[in-house]
Amino acid sequence: MNTIRPLVAGNWKMNGLSVGLEQAKLLANDLAGSQQYKCDVMLCPPATLLAQAHWQLKGTKVALGGQDCHSAVSGAHTGDISADMLKDAGAIAVIVGHSERRTNHKETDAQVSAKATAAHNAGLVAIICIGETLDERKGGKTLGVLTEQIKGSVPAGSTASNSVIAYEPIWAIGTGLTPTTAEVAEAHAHIRAELSKVMGSEGPATRILYGGSVKGSNAVELMGVANVNGALVGGASLKAEDFMGIIKAYA
Ligand code: PEP
Repeated sequence: MNTIRPLVAGNWKMNGLSVGLEQAKLLANDLAGSQQYKCDVMLCPPATLLAQAHWQLKGTKVALGGQDCHSAVSGAHTGDISADMLKDAGAIAVIVGHSERRTNHKETDAQVSAKATAAHNAGLVAIICIGETLDERKGGKTLGVLTEQIKGSVPAGSTASNSVIAYEPIWAIGTGLTPTTAEVAEAHAHIRAELSKVMGSEGPATRILYGGSVKGSNAVELMGVANVNGALVGGASLKAEDFMGIIKAYA
């Protein structure tokens, strides 16, 4: 049985203009109803919307996170955003090492680790993403890949309070495909064991999210798997109604 308080986090990616914040307000209104859901809820909108979202969501049950940060505190890094800046705009967390960053921007485990440390130093929770490609899964390499990513991307100083792991099989992101519950259980149990090796006594208390084509229709099943402590959601987080369909798994 999971005793860790789950987190359902939505990653809006490069989607959303200020009008889209209407969905965030709808979500906050739904969460303000009498039904209490047994999970924390977070939205990670584009950085351009963070400050505005912060003011609109202040006092609600919707927390805010960034989607990426630079590993440096400040400096000559045109177009980048520091963890301190995200915090200043109202974020309490930041996603690091999303597979789209690892693939599109060739981010390495070492860079992801440095970003996670920057997040910790700024007082943000680092949501550290890991996950295998389809070729790696087909080649039976999934668990080995996860071990290497954990060793390389989870920095010293990571605790259950300042870090969340998101297991996102790359082939399941935005494709409508999901691993079987047995495959999710195997991956999450492996991640749990590896976290205990790198985080010691903090490992068993650290949240491990599942991400990849989570939607209302599969959320209860996926969130019910051992060692799944919530979800990182892409497409289905853009509309409040769809996102609520996932949060309701924790009714
Ligand atoms: C993601 O990109 O983190 C993600 C899980 O996307 P989707 O839910 O759309 O598969």
